[in-house]
Amino acid sequence: MLYSSLVEVFQQFESTTSRIRLTDIVSKLFKGSPINLLPVIIYMLIGKVFPSWDSRKLDVSGSTIFAALKQATGADNPTIIKAFKETGDIGSTAELIYKTKKPIALFSKQLTISDVYNGFVDIARVTGPGSRKKKERILLGLLNSASSSEVKYILRNVIGDMRHGVNEGIVEEAIAKAFQIPVDLVQRSYMIANDLGLVAQVAKNSGITGLKQLKLTIMRPIKPMLAQSVSDIKEALSEIKKPAFEWKLDGARAQIHKQKDKIKIFSRGTEDITQAFPEIVKSLKEGIVANEAILEGEIVAIDPLNSKPRPFQFVLRRFRRKYSVSELEKIIPVKLYLFDLLYLNRNSFLNKPFTERRNTLEKIIVQNPKIELTKLVITNEISVAQTMFNEAIEIGHEGLMIKDPNASYIPGIRGKKMLKVKAALETLDLAVIEADYGYGRKHKWLSSYALVAMDETSGKLVAVGRVFTGLSDEELEEITKKLKEIAIQEIGRSVIVRPEIVLEVGFGEIQKSPVYDSGFALRFPRIIAIREDLSLEDIDSLQKIKELYKRQTKAQSGAINQIKTP
Ligand code: AMP
Repeated sequence: MLYSSLVEVFQQFESTTSRIRLTDIVSKLFKGSPINLLPVIIYMLIGKVFPSWDSRKLDVSGSTIFAALKQATGADNPTIIKAFKETGDIGSTAELIYKTKKPIALFSKQLTISDVYNGFVDIARVTGPGSRKKKERILLGLLNSASSSEVKYILRNVIGDMRHGVNEGIVEEAIAKAFQIPVDLVQRSYMIANDLGLVAQVAKNSGITGLKQLKLTIMRPIKPMLAQSVSDIKEALSEIKKPAFEWKLDGARAQIHKQKDKIKIFSRGTEDITQAFPEIVKSLKEGIVANEAILEGEIVAIDPLNSKPRPFQFVLRRFRRKYSVSELEKIIPVKLYLFDLLYLNRNSFLNKPFTERRNTLEKIIVQNPKIELTKLVITNEISVAQTMFNEAIEIGHEGLMIKDPNASYIPGIRGKKMLKVKAALETLDLAVIEADYGYGRKHKWLSSYALVAMDETSGKLVAVGRVFTGLSDEELEEITKKLKEIAIQEIGRSVIVRPEIVLEVGFGEIQKSPVYDSGFALRFPRIIAIREDLSLEDIDSLQKIKELYKRQTKAQSGAINQIKTP
Protein backbone atom coordinates (compact mmCIF):
# COMPACT_ATOMS: atom_id res chain seq x y z
CA MET A 1 0.00 0.00 0.00
CA LEU A 2 1.46 3.35 -1.02
CA TYR A 3 2.28 5.86 1.69
CA SER A 4 0.65 8.53 -0.50
CA SER A 5 -2.76 6.86 -0.01
CA LEU A 6 -2.37 7.25 3.79
CA VAL A 7 -1.30 10.84 3.28
CA GLU A 8 -4.48 11.46 1.26
CA VAL A 9 -6.47 10.36 4.33
CA PHE A 10 -4.40 12.63 6.60
CA GLN A 11 -5.20 15.50 4.25
CA GLN A 12 -8.93 14.85 4.61
CA PHE A 13 -8.59 15.42 8.38
CA GLU A 14 -7.41 18.95 7.75
CA SER A 15 -10.78 20.04 6.39
CA THR A 16 -12.72 19.11 9.55
CA THR A 17 -12.63 19.32 13.31
CA SER A 18 -15.87 17.34 13.75
CA ARG A 19 -15.23 14.25 15.87
CA ILE A 20 -17.97 12.32 14.05
CA ARG A 21 -16.52 13.17 10.65
CA LEU A 22 -12.97 12.27 11.79
CA THR A 23 -14.23 8.96 13.17
CA ASP A 24 -15.99 8.27 9.86
CA ILE A 25 -12.86 8.87 7.81
CA VAL A 26 -10.72 6.74 10.13
CA SER A 27 -13.23 3.90 10.19
CA LYS A 28 -13.30 3.79 6.36
CA LEU A 29 -9.50 3.74 6.38
CA PHE A 30 -9.50 0.75 8.75
CA LYS A 31 -12.06 -1.15 6.67
CA GLY A 32 -9.99 -0.70 3.54
CA SER A 33 -6.60 -1.49 5.09
CA PRO A 34 -4.92 -4.87 4.63
CA ILE A 35 -4.87 -6.72 7.96
CA ASN A 36 -1.07 -6.95 8.17
CA LEU A 37 -0.70 -3.19 7.78
CA LEU A 38 -3.53 -2.19 10.10
CA PRO A 39 -1.39 -1.91 13.28
CA VAL A 40 1.27 0.15 11.50
CA ILE A 41 -1.37 2.46 10.04
CA ILE A 42 -2.83 2.96 13.51
CA TYR A 43 0.52 3.78 15.14
CA MET A 44 1.35 6.24 12.37
CA LEU A 45 -2.08 7.79 12.60
CA ILE A 46 -1.62 8.74 16.24
CA GLY A 47 1.95 9.92 15.78
CA LYS A 48 3.59 6.81 17.16
CA VAL A 49 5.63 4.03 15.68
CA PHE A 50 5.29 1.35 18.31
CA PRO A 51 2.48 0.04 20.54
CA SER A 52 2.11 1.59 24.02
CA TRP A 53 3.78 -1.35 25.80
CA ASP A 54 6.86 -1.10 23.61
CA SER A 55 9.45 1.32 24.97
CA ARG A 56 11.44 1.78 21.75
CA LYS A 57 11.77 5.42 20.68
CA LEU A 58 12.89 7.26 17.55
CA ASP A 59 14.87 9.87 19.53
CA VAL A 60 15.52 12.17 16.60
CA SER A 61 16.50 15.71 17.59
CA GLY A 62 15.37 18.88 15.84
CA SER A 63 18.91 19.51 14.60
CA THR A 64 19.04 16.04 13.00
CA ILE A 65 15.78 16.76 11.19
CA PHE A 66 17.04 20.12 9.97
CA ALA A 67 20.34 18.62 8.84
CA ALA A 68 18.52 15.91 6.85
CA LEU A 69 16.15 18.49 5.37
CA LYS A 70 19.06 20.68 4.32
CA GLN A 71 20.85 17.78 2.68
CA ALA A 72 17.74 16.53 0.93
CA THR A 73 16.79 19.86 -0.63
CA GLY A 74 19.92 21.99 -0.58
CA ALA A 75 17.93 24.67 1.25
CA ASP A 76 20.02 26.97 3.45
CA ASN A 77 19.44 27.88 7.09
CA PRO A 78 17.71 31.24 6.50
CA THR A 79 15.22 29.59 4.10
CA ILE A 80 14.37 26.87 6.63
CA ILE A 81 14.08 29.35 9.52
CA LYS A 82 11.86 31.65 7.46
CA ALA A 83 9.56 28.73 6.54
CA PHE A 84 9.47 27.57 10.16
CA LYS A 85 8.51 31.05 11.36
CA GLU A 86 5.71 31.12 8.78
CA THR A 87 4.30 27.69 9.57
CA GLY A 88 5.29 27.06 13.19
CA ASP A 89 5.53 23.35 12.47
CA ILE A 90 8.37 21.23 11.20
CA GLY A 91 6.17 19.15 8.87
CA SER A 92 4.65 22.17 7.14
CA THR A 93 8.11 23.77 6.96
CA ALA A 94 9.42 20.80 5.00
CA GLU A 95 6.32 20.76 2.78
CA LEU A 96 6.81 24.42 1.95
CA ILE A 97 10.47 23.93 1.09
CA TYR A 98 9.76 20.82 -1.00
CA LYS A 99 7.27 22.81 -3.09
CA THR A 100 10.06 24.99 -4.42
CA LYS A 101 13.12 22.79 -3.96
CA LYS A 102 12.61 19.20 -4.97
CA PRO A 103 14.83 16.63 -3.23
CA ILE A 104 18.20 16.64 -4.95
CA ALA A 105 18.40 12.88 -5.21
CA LEU A 106 14.68 12.22 -5.81
CA PHE A 107 14.14 8.54 -6.43
CA SER A 108 11.54 7.50 -8.95
CA LYS A 109 10.23 4.74 -6.66
CA GLN A 110 7.15 5.77 -4.67
CA LEU A 111 7.26 5.19 -0.91
CA THR A 112 5.08 2.43 0.51
CA ILE A 113 3.73 2.45 4.09
CA SER A 114 6.15 -0.38 4.86
CA ASP A 115 9.12 1.63 3.52
CA VAL A 116 8.31 4.50 5.88
CA TYR A 117 7.61 2.23 8.82
CA ASN A 118 10.78 0.20 8.30
CA GLY A 119 12.74 3.46 8.12
CA PHE A 120 11.31 4.44 11.51
CA VAL A 121 12.14 1.03 12.98
CA ASP A 122 15.71 1.35 11.69
CA ILE A 123 16.00 4.82 13.25
CA ALA A 124 14.81 3.48 16.61
CA ARG A 125 17.31 0.65 16.44
CA VAL A 126 20.30 3.00 16.25
CA THR A 127 21.88 3.76 19.64
CA GLY A 128 25.28 4.60 21.06
CA PRO A 129 28.18 6.64 19.68
CA GLY A 130 27.64 8.10 16.24
CA SER A 131 23.91 7.46 16.40
CA ARG A 132 23.01 11.03 15.48
CA LYS A 133 24.70 10.75 12.07
CA LYS A 134 23.28 7.29 11.47
CA LYS A 135 19.74 8.42 12.27
CA GLU A 136 20.23 11.40 9.96
CA ARG A 137 21.29 9.11 7.11
CA ILE A 138 18.23 6.85 7.47
CA LEU A 139 15.92 9.85 7.68
CA LEU A 140 17.58 11.33 4.61
CA GLY A 141 16.84 8.07 2.75
CA LEU A 142 13.13 8.59 3.47
CA LEU A 143 13.19 12.30 2.65
CA ASN A 144 14.93 11.64 -0.65
CA SER A 145 11.98 9.51 -1.77
CA ALA A 146 9.19 11.68 -0.41
CA SER A 147 6.87 14.13 -2.13
CA SER A 148 6.04 17.49 -0.54
CA SER A 149 2.88 16.18 1.13
CA GLU A 150 4.56 12.96 2.25
CA VAL A 151 7.51 14.74 3.85
CA LYS A 152 5.11 16.79 5.97
CA TYR A 153 3.63 13.73 7.66
CA ILE A 154 6.86 11.74 7.83
CA LEU A 155 8.42 14.53 9.87
CA ARG A 156 5.33 15.02 12.02
CA ASN A 157 5.51 11.31 12.77
CA VAL A 158 9.18 11.61 13.67
CA ILE A 159 8.43 14.30 16.25
CA GLY A 160 5.28 12.50 17.41
CA ASP A 161 2.82 15.33 16.79
CA MET A 162 0.46 14.73 13.86
CA ARG A 163 -1.58 17.89 14.49
CA HIS A 164 -4.76 16.45 12.95
CA GLY A 165 -6.77 15.87 16.10
CA VAL A 166 -7.12 12.09 15.67
CA ASN A 167 -6.36 10.69 19.11
CA GLU A 168 -6.63 7.25 20.72
CA GLY A 169 -10.28 7.89 21.64
CA ILE A 170 -11.22 8.49 18.01
CA VAL A 171 -9.27 5.42 16.92
CA GLU A 172 -11.20 3.30 19.47
CA GLU A 173 -14.51 4.62 18.15
CA ALA A 174 -13.40 4.06 14.57
CA ILE A 175 -12.42 0.44 15.27
CA ALA A 176 -15.85 -0.08 16.85
CA LYS A 177 -17.60 1.46 13.85
CA ALA A 178 -15.53 -0.28 11.19
CA PHE A 179 -15.95 -3.78 12.59
CA GLN A 180 -19.34 -3.43 14.33
CA ILE A 181 -18.11 -3.90 17.87
CA PRO A 182 -19.42 -2.13 21.00
CA VAL A 183 -17.02 0.71 21.79
CA ASP A 184 -16.69 -0.30 25.44
CA LEU A 185 -15.41 -3.73 24.36
CA VAL A 186 -12.80 -2.02 22.18
CA GLN A 187 -11.80 0.17 25.14
CA ARG A 188 -11.57 -2.80 27.50
CA SER A 189 -9.54 -4.77 24.95
CA TYR A 190 -7.12 -1.86 24.66
CA MET A 191 -6.71 -1.76 28.43
CA ILE A 192 -5.76 -5.43 28.44
CA ALA A 193 -3.56 -5.55 25.33
CA ASN A 194 -2.13 -2.00 25.61
CA ASP A 195 -1.81 -2.17 21.84
CA LEU A 196 -4.40 -0.43 19.66
CA GLY A 197 -2.94 -2.01 16.52
CA LEU A 198 -3.43 -5.50 17.87
CA VAL A 199 -6.97 -4.67 19.02
CA ALA A 200 -7.88 -3.47 15.51
CA GLN A 201 -6.31 -6.52 13.92
CA VAL A 202 -8.22 -8.91 16.20
CA ALA A 203 -11.44 -6.92 15.71
CA LYS A 204 -11.09 -7.16 11.94
CA ASN A 205 -10.06 -10.79 11.96
CA SER A 206 -12.29 -12.37 14.57
CA GLY A 207 -14.68 -9.69 15.85
CA ILE A 208 -16.29 -9.71 19.30
CA THR A 209 -15.31 -13.32 20.03
CA GLY A 210 -11.66 -12.62 19.30
CA LEU A 211 -11.55 -9.48 21.42
CA LYS A 212 -13.16 -11.26 24.37
CA GLN A 213 -10.33 -13.77 24.29
CA LEU A 214 -7.58 -11.13 24.50
CA LYS A 215 -5.39 -11.69 27.55
CA LEU A 216 -2.80 -9.85 29.55
CA THR A 217 0.63 -10.78 28.25
CA ILE A 218 3.38 -11.24 30.73
CA MET A 219 6.38 -8.90 30.15
CA ARG A 220 4.15 -6.42 28.29
CA PRO A 221 3.25 -3.62 30.70
CA ILE A 222 -0.27 -2.23 30.85
CA LYS A 223 -1.25 1.31 31.74
CA PRO A 224 -1.70 1.73 35.51
CA MET A 225 -5.02 2.54 37.14
CA LEU A 226 -4.99 6.19 38.24
CA ALA A 227 -6.37 7.99 41.26
CA GLN A 228 -8.66 11.00 41.48
CA SER A 229 -7.88 13.55 44.14
CA VAL A 230 -10.31 14.52 46.89
CA SER A 231 -9.89 17.41 49.28
CA ASP A 232 -10.27 15.47 52.53
CA ILE A 233 -11.22 12.19 54.15
CA LYS A 234 -14.83 13.25 54.56
CA GLU A 235 -15.15 13.67 50.80
CA ALA A 236 -13.47 10.29 50.30
CA LEU A 237 -16.01 8.60 52.58
CA SER A 238 -18.85 10.20 50.66
CA GLU A 239 -17.52 8.59 47.46
CA ILE A 240 -16.70 5.13 48.84
CA LYS A 241 -18.71 3.88 51.85
CA LYS A 242 -16.19 1.62 53.52
CA PRO A 243 -12.88 1.98 51.74
CA ALA A 244 -9.46 0.47 52.11
CA PHE A 245 -7.06 3.19 53.27
CA GLU A 246 -3.35 2.92 52.52
CA TRP A 247 -0.43 5.28 53.01
CA LYS A 248 0.24 7.31 49.90
CA LEU A 249 3.93 6.72 49.46
CA ASP A 250 6.04 9.37 47.80
CA GLY A 251 7.98 7.28 45.31
CA ALA A 252 7.82 5.89 41.78
CA ARG A 253 5.11 3.51 40.64
CA ALA A 254 6.41 0.11 39.62
CA GLN A 255 4.69 -2.63 37.63
CA ILE A 256 6.50 -5.87 38.19
CA HIS A 257 6.34 -8.81 35.80
CA LYS A 258 7.67 -12.19 36.90
CA GLN A 259 8.03 -15.23 34.67
CA LYS A 260 9.93 -18.12 36.20
CA ASP A 261 13.22 -16.52 37.33
CA LYS A 262 12.93 -13.51 35.03
CA ILE A 263 11.84 -10.18 36.54
CA LYS A 264 11.07 -6.92 34.78
CA ILE A 265 10.11 -3.62 36.38
CA PHE A 266 8.17 -1.04 34.37
CA SER A 267 7.60 2.60 35.25
CA ARG A 268 4.25 4.35 35.36
CA GLY A 269 4.88 5.34 31.73
CA THR A 270 5.44 1.61 30.93
CA GLU A 271 9.17 2.08 30.42
CA ASP A 272 11.50 -0.76 31.34
CA ILE A 273 13.40 0.40 34.46
CA THR A 274 14.65 -3.04 35.57
CA GLN A 275 18.34 -2.10 35.18
CA ALA A 276 18.06 0.77 37.66
CA PHE A 277 16.99 -1.42 40.62
CA PRO A 278 19.11 -4.62 40.75
CA GLU A 279 18.65 -5.07 44.51
CA ILE A 280 14.85 -4.94 44.13
CA VAL A 281 15.02 -7.49 41.31
CA LYS A 282 17.06 -9.79 43.53
CA SER A 283 14.63 -9.41 46.44
CA LEU A 284 11.64 -10.01 44.17
CA LYS A 285 13.17 -13.26 42.92
CA GLU A 286 13.30 -14.43 46.54
CA GLY A 287 10.05 -12.80 47.64
CA ILE A 288 7.45 -13.82 45.03
CA VAL A 289 6.15 -17.33 45.52
CA ALA A 290 4.61 -17.85 42.09
CA ASN A 291 5.69 -18.91 38.66
CA GLU A 292 4.11 -16.03 36.81
CA ALA A 293 2.76 -12.81 38.27
CA ILE A 294 2.16 -9.15 37.59
CA LEU A 295 2.29 -6.98 40.70
CA GLU A 296 2.18 -3.32 41.47
CA GLY A 297 3.90 -1.23 44.05
CA GLU A 298 5.79 1.96 44.81
CA ILE A 299 9.58 2.20 44.97
CA VAL A 300 10.50 4.58 47.78
CA ALA A 301 13.90 6.04 48.65
CA ILE A 302 14.87 5.41 52.26
CA ASP A 303 17.17 7.64 54.30
CA PRO A 304 20.02 5.35 55.42
CA LEU A 305 20.52 7.44 58.58
CA ASN A 306 17.04 7.15 60.07
CA SER A 307 15.18 4.72 57.75
CA LYS A 308 12.59 7.39 57.00
CA PRO A 309 11.15 7.78 53.50
CA ARG A 310 12.75 10.44 51.31
CA PRO A 311 10.85 12.50 48.70
CA PHE A 312 10.41 10.86 45.33
CA GLN A 313 13.05 13.06 43.63
CA PHE A 314 15.58 10.73 45.27
CA VAL A 315 14.12 7.68 43.53
CA LEU A 316 14.17 9.53 40.25
CA ARG A 317 17.92 9.95 40.67
CA ARG A 318 18.15 6.17 40.51
CA PHE A 319 16.74 6.37 36.95
CA ARG A 320 19.60 8.60 35.86
CA ARG A 321 22.89 7.34 34.54
CA LYS A 322 25.22 9.82 36.22
CA TYR A 323 26.71 7.31 38.63
CA SER A 324 27.03 3.58 38.24
CA VAL A 325 24.03 1.62 39.46
CA SER A 326 26.01 -0.03 42.27
CA GLU A 327 27.20 3.37 43.50
CA LEU A 328 23.66 4.73 43.44
CA GLU A 329 22.40 1.66 45.27
CA LYS A 330 24.56 2.74 48.22
CA ILE A 331 23.88 6.49 48.04
CA ILE A 332 20.12 6.12 47.52
CA PRO A 333 18.85 2.87 49.03
CA VAL A 334 15.28 2.06 48.07
CA LYS A 335 12.49 -0.20 49.18
CA LEU A 336 9.48 -1.60 47.31
CA TYR A 337 6.03 -1.40 48.88
CA LEU A 338 3.60 -3.73 47.09
CA PHE A 339 -0.12 -2.96 46.89
CA ASP A 340 -1.79 -4.82 44.01
CA LEU A 341 -1.87 -8.02 42.00
CA LEU A 342 -2.99 -7.99 38.36
CA TYR A 343 -2.13 -11.46 37.14
CA LEU A 344 -1.19 -14.78 38.65
CA ASN A 345 -0.20 -18.05 36.97
CA ARG A 346 -2.04 -17.51 33.68
CA ASN A 347 -5.09 -15.91 35.31
CA SER A 348 -5.91 -12.25 34.95
CA PHE A 349 -6.99 -10.63 38.22
CA LEU A 350 -8.14 -7.39 36.60
CA ASN A 351 -11.83 -8.20 37.00
CA LYS A 352 -11.53 -9.42 40.58
CA PRO A 353 -12.42 -7.07 43.44
CA PHE A 354 -9.55 -5.18 45.10
CA THR A 355 -9.81 -7.14 48.37
CA GLU A 356 -9.41 -10.44 46.57
CA ARG A 357 -6.42 -9.12 44.63
CA ARG A 358 -4.84 -7.85 47.84
CA ASN A 359 -5.52 -11.05 49.80
CA THR A 360 -3.95 -13.15 47.07
CA LEU A 361 -0.99 -10.77 46.91
CA GLU A 362 -0.41 -11.31 50.63
CA LYS A 363 -0.35 -15.07 50.05
CA ILE A 364 2.35 -14.98 47.37
CA ILE A 365 4.71 -12.48 48.98
CA VAL A 366 7.36 -13.31 51.52
CA GLN A 367 8.40 -9.94 52.88
CA ASN A 368 12.11 -9.16 53.20
CA PRO A 369 14.12 -6.01 54.05
CA LYS A 370 13.64 -4.68 50.51
CA ILE A 371 10.00 -5.69 49.93
CA GLU A 372 7.02 -4.94 52.11
CA LEU A 373 3.26 -4.83 51.65
CA THR A 374 1.60 -1.44 52.13
CA LYS A 375 -0.18 -0.85 55.41
CA LEU A 376 -3.93 -1.22 54.83
CA VAL A 377 -6.96 -0.40 57.00
CA ILE A 378 -10.59 -0.91 55.98
CA THR A 379 -12.86 1.48 57.86
CA ASN A 380 -15.82 3.82 57.53
CA GLU A 381 -14.84 5.78 60.63
CA ILE A 382 -13.55 9.19 59.85
CA SER A 383 -11.52 9.41 63.08
CA VAL A 384 -9.67 6.15 62.36
CA ALA A 385 -8.81 7.31 58.83
CA GLN A 386 -7.83 10.77 60.08
CA THR A 387 -5.42 9.24 62.63
CA MET A 388 -3.90 7.12 59.87
CA PHE A 389 -3.55 10.22 57.69
CA ASN A 390 -1.78 12.17 60.46
CA GLU A 391 0.50 9.21 61.13
CA ALA A 392 1.36 8.95 57.40
CA ILE A 393 2.29 12.64 57.21
CA GLU A 394 4.35 12.43 60.40
CA ILE A 395 6.41 9.56 58.99
CA GLY A 396 7.00 11.53 55.79
CA HIS A 397 4.49 10.00 53.37
CA GLU A 398 2.31 12.11 51.08
CA GLY A 399 -1.11 11.29 52.47
CA LEU A 400 -3.56 8.43 51.94
CA MET A 401 -4.87 6.38 49.04
CA ILE A 402 -8.51 5.40 49.32
CA LYS A 403 -9.56 2.30 47.41
CA ASP A 404 -12.95 0.74 46.73
CA PRO A 405 -12.68 -2.83 48.11
CA ASN A 406 -15.14 -4.11 45.48
CA ALA A 407 -13.68 -2.38 42.46
CA SER A 408 -11.94 -4.14 39.62
CA TYR A 409 -8.64 -2.87 38.24
CA ILE A 410 -9.28 -0.44 35.39
CA PRO A 411 -6.02 0.24 33.51
CA GLY A 412 -5.26 3.79 32.39
CA ILE A 413 -8.42 5.29 33.86
CA ARG A 414 -8.61 8.03 36.49
CA GLY A 415 -11.91 7.11 38.11
CA LYS A 416 -13.62 7.25 41.47
CA LYS A 417 -12.66 3.73 42.52
CA MET A 418 -9.26 4.89 43.71
CA LEU A 419 -8.88 8.28 45.39
CA LYS A 420 -5.99 10.19 46.93
CA VAL A 421 -5.81 12.79 49.64
CA LYS A 422 -2.61 14.74 50.16
CA ALA A 423 -1.41 17.04 52.89
CA ALA A 424 0.37 19.33 50.51
CA LEU A 425 -1.46 21.65 48.15
CA GLU A 426 -2.43 20.35 44.74
CA THR A 427 0.19 20.44 42.01
CA LEU A 428 -0.12 20.12 38.24
CA ASP A 429 1.95 17.95 35.91
CA LEU A 430 2.51 20.03 32.76
CA ALA A 431 4.64 19.66 29.62
CA VAL A 432 7.24 22.16 28.45
CA ILE A 433 6.80 23.34 24.84
CA GLU A 434 9.22 26.23 24.79
CA ALA A 435 12.11 27.40 26.94
CA ASP A 436 14.05 30.67 27.18
CA TYR A 437 17.64 31.32 28.23
CA GLY A 438 17.90 33.15 31.55
CA TYR A 439 19.73 36.32 32.41
CA GLY A 440 22.76 37.14 34.58
CA ARG A 441 23.98 34.06 36.40
CA LYS A 442 21.46 31.91 34.56
CA HIS A 443 22.34 33.13 31.05
CA LYS A 444 23.77 29.79 29.94
CA TRP A 445 20.76 27.80 31.05
CA LEU A 446 17.29 27.42 29.63
CA SER A 447 15.53 28.53 32.78
CA SER A 448 12.05 29.81 31.89
CA TYR A 449 9.52 27.33 30.56
CA ALA A 450 6.22 27.69 28.68
CA LEU A 451 3.80 25.07 29.97
CA VAL A 452 0.87 23.21 28.42
CA ALA A 453 -1.94 20.98 29.67
CA MET A 454 -4.03 18.54 27.61
CA ASP A 455 -7.50 19.58 26.51
CA GLU A 456 -9.17 16.16 26.61
CA THR A 457 -12.11 17.33 24.51
CA SER A 458 -10.09 18.48 21.51
CA GLY A 459 -6.99 16.35 22.14
CA LYS A 460 -4.85 19.48 21.78
CA LEU A 461 -2.25 21.01 24.08
CA VAL A 462 -3.25 24.32 25.62
CA ALA A 463 -1.00 26.95 27.22
CA VAL A 464 -1.27 27.72 30.93
CA GLY A 465 1.63 30.15 31.36
CA ARG A 466 5.30 30.07 32.26
CA VAL A 467 7.39 28.96 35.21
CA PHE A 468 10.94 29.98 36.04
CA THR A 469 11.68 29.15 39.67
CA GLY A 470 12.27 26.02 41.66
CA LEU A 471 15.23 24.24 40.07
CA SER A 472 18.73 23.89 41.50
CA ASP A 473 21.80 24.75 39.38
CA GLU A 474 22.43 21.06 38.86
CA GLU A 475 18.85 20.54 37.66
CA LEU A 476 19.07 23.61 35.39
CA GLU A 477 22.20 22.18 33.82
CA GLU A 478 20.50 18.85 33.25
CA ILE A 479 17.18 20.16 31.93
CA THR A 480 19.02 22.52 29.54
CA LYS A 481 20.88 19.55 28.09
CA LYS A 482 17.66 17.58 27.67
CA LEU A 483 15.73 20.49 26.19
CA LYS A 484 18.48 20.99 23.59
CA GLU A 485 18.21 17.32 22.64
CA ILE A 486 14.50 17.65 21.92
CA ALA A 487 14.70 21.13 20.38
CA ILE A 488 12.79 21.66 17.19
CA GLN A 489 13.98 25.18 16.57
CA GLU A 490 15.92 28.03 18.18
CA ILE A 491 14.60 31.54 17.69
CA GLY A 492 16.74 34.19 19.39
CA ARG A 493 16.91 33.26 23.07
CA SER A 494 13.96 30.84 22.83
CA VAL A 495 14.01 27.15 22.04
CA ILE A 496 10.89 25.38 20.83
CA VAL A 497 10.90 21.78 21.96
CA ARG A 498 8.95 18.58 21.48
CA PRO A 499 6.53 18.36 24.41
CA GLU A 500 8.33 15.53 26.22
CA ILE A 501 9.56 17.00 29.50
CA VAL A 502 6.99 17.03 32.28
CA LEU A 503 7.29 19.43 35.22
CA GLU A 504 5.33 19.14 38.44
CA VAL A 505 4.31 22.68 39.21
CA GLY A 506 3.05 24.14 42.48
CA PHE A 507 1.12 27.41 42.50
CA GLY A 508 -0.61 29.88 44.78
CA GLU A 509 -3.84 30.09 42.86
CA ILE A 510 -5.47 29.38 39.51
CA GLN A 511 -6.77 32.49 37.74
CA LYS A 512 -8.94 32.99 34.67
CA SER A 513 -6.82 34.49 31.92
CA PRO A 514 -7.52 35.66 28.38
CA VAL A 515 -3.77 35.53 27.64
CA TYR A 516 -3.44 31.75 27.35
CA ASP A 517 -5.58 29.53 25.15
CA SER A 518 -6.47 27.32 28.13
CA GLY A 519 -8.34 30.33 29.55
CA PHE A 520 -6.39 29.92 32.81
CA ALA A 521 -3.08 30.98 34.32
CA LEU A 522 -1.18 29.94 37.43
CA ARG A 523 -0.35 32.53 40.07
CA PHE A 524 3.09 32.23 41.73
CA PRO A 525 4.04 29.03 39.87
CA ARG A 526 7.15 27.14 40.98
CA ILE A 527 8.69 23.88 39.88
CA ILE A 528 8.38 21.11 42.45
CA ALA A 529 10.13 18.47 40.34
CA ILE A 530 11.20 17.38 36.89
CA ARG A 531 8.97 14.33 36.50
CA GLU A 532 11.18 11.95 34.60
CA ASP A 533 8.74 9.17 35.40
CA LEU A 534 5.98 10.90 33.41
CA SER A 535 5.47 11.47 29.69
CA LEU A 536 3.14 13.61 27.60
CA GLU A 537 0.35 11.06 28.05
CA ASP A 538 0.42 11.62 31.82
CA ILE A 539 0.12 15.39 31.95
CA ASP A 540 -2.85 16.98 33.66
CA SER A 541 -5.88 17.98 31.69
CA LEU A 542 -7.62 21.29 31.19
CA GLN A 543 -10.60 19.56 32.79
CA LYS A 544 -8.57 19.03 36.00
CA ILE A 545 -7.54 22.71 36.00
CA LYS A 546 -11.21 23.70 35.66
CA GLU A 547 -12.12 21.35 38.52
CA LEU A 548 -9.37 22.80 40.77
CA TYR A 549 -10.49 26.32 39.85
CA LYS A 550 -14.08 25.44 40.82
CA ARG A 551 -12.92 23.88 44.07
CA GLN A 552 -10.77 26.91 44.86
CA THR A 553 -13.63 29.35 44.15
CA LYS A 554 -15.90 27.26 46.39
CA ALA A 555 -13.31 27.25 49.19
CA GLN A 556 -12.77 31.00 48.84
CA SER A 557 -16.50 31.79 48.99
CA GLY A 558 -16.75 29.47 52.02
CA ALA A 559 -13.95 31.43 53.72
CA ILE A 560 -15.67 34.74 52.94
CA ASN A 561 -18.93 33.43 54.39
CA GLN A 562 -17.09 32.39 57.54
CA ILE A 563 -15.64 35.89 57.91
CA LYS A 564 -19.08 37.40 57.40
CA THR A 565 -20.77 35.13 59.95
CA PRO A 566 -20.58 36.76 63.40
P1 AMP B 1 -0.49 10.98 41.80
O1 AMP B 1 0.88 10.64 41.25
O2 AMP B 1 -0.51 12.19 42.68
O3 AMP B 1 -1.55 10.96 40.71
O4 AMP B 1 -0.93 9.80 42.78
C1 AMP B 1 -1.09 8.49 42.35
C2 AMP B 1 0.20 7.74 42.58
O5 AMP B 1 0.44 7.50 43.95
C3 AMP B 1 0.21 6.36 41.99
O6 AMP B 1 0.49 6.39 40.62
C4 AMP B 1 1.29 5.66 42.78
O7 AMP B 1 2.54 5.84 42.13
C5 AMP B 1 1.35 6.43 44.08
N1 AMP B 1 1.03 5.64 45.28
C6 AMP B 1 1.62 5.83 46.47
N2 AMP B 1 1.15 5.00 47.41
C7 AMP B 1 0.20 4.24 46.79
C8 AMP B 1 -0.65 3.20 47.25
N3 AMP B 1 -0.65 2.77 48.49
N4 AMP B 1 -1.52 2.67 46.33
C9 AMP B 1 -1.55 3.11 45.06
N5 AMP B 1 -0.74 4.08 44.57
C10 AMP B 1 0.12 4.65 45.43
